[in-house]
Formats: sequence, structure tokens, C-alpha cells
Amino acid sequence: MITWLNGVLDQREATANASGDNADARCWSVIDDGIDCRVLDAAGEVIVHDEGSPTREQADHIALNDPKQILADVAADRAIAAEHAIEYPDTEFAYCAVCHDHDRHDAAAAPCRTLRLLAAKYATWPGYQPSWAPEGSRG
Ligand SMILES: [Zn+2]
Repeated sequence: MITWLNGVLDQREATANASGDNADARCWSVIDDGIDCRVLDAAGEVIVHDEGSPTREQADHIALNDPKQILADVAADRAIAAEHAIEYPDTEFAYCAVCHDHDRHDAAAAPCRTLRLLAAKYATWPGYQPSWAPEGSRG
């Protein structure tokens, strides 16, 4: 799961970085003058034209998920994954250094619920295994 998750994060990061060659190009906002609704980058370059779409709501969603936000999400996800790294992965001694209950070792609890929840963010991506779903989730 960790290898797959790192691959997903690498792909998201690479796609966000490829969308613009500097911070201004990766920070998007909505310009809506009541006639046209466009998504522009911080330098004023048009990212999405209004040609009957997007709607204002769609434009807001696009801007809220700009490359700058994706890079921040990826950085936070990497930090969470690193904090909940699995000790002795793929062994009967596997455990999460943060979540592990030292009074009741259970290698099946690795990856921990936090890592499973993190991976579940990307459940629609190819390669996600339903068996990774955190306990109690709808899958
Ligand atoms: Zn953990």
C-alpha cells in the first residue's frame, strides 16, 4: 500500500508541477464579471475560458483545486504517511510507530487506520485495493 500511495502522490505532484513552471502559474482564481466566468493564474494567464462553461460553481471548484493546493495536499499526505511509517513492513512484526499498541501487538493492524484513511482518499485511482479500506468505512 505504501508503494502504491507514494506512486499516487508522485503522480499528483508531477502533474501539478507540470501545469505551470512557477508559483504564479500554479495559483488559480476565478474572475466573474457577470458576463464571463474564467479561471486565471496569478500572472493573469487564462486557464479556463468561458465558452458556455464552466459555471461559476465549477470555476470555483477548479480554482480551489489548483496546482498550488494539490502540492500542499501532497506535502501534507507525505508528512502523514512518513509519521505513520510501518516498522518491519511485510513481516509478522510490522507495526506503526505512532499507533501501535505495545500491550497487544497485532501485525494485522499495519498499515494503521491513519494510513488506510489516507490511502482511501485515492480509492478511485487504479491499483487501490478494497482490502486497504479502513475498518468501519463504506469502502
Ligand atoms: Zn499509525
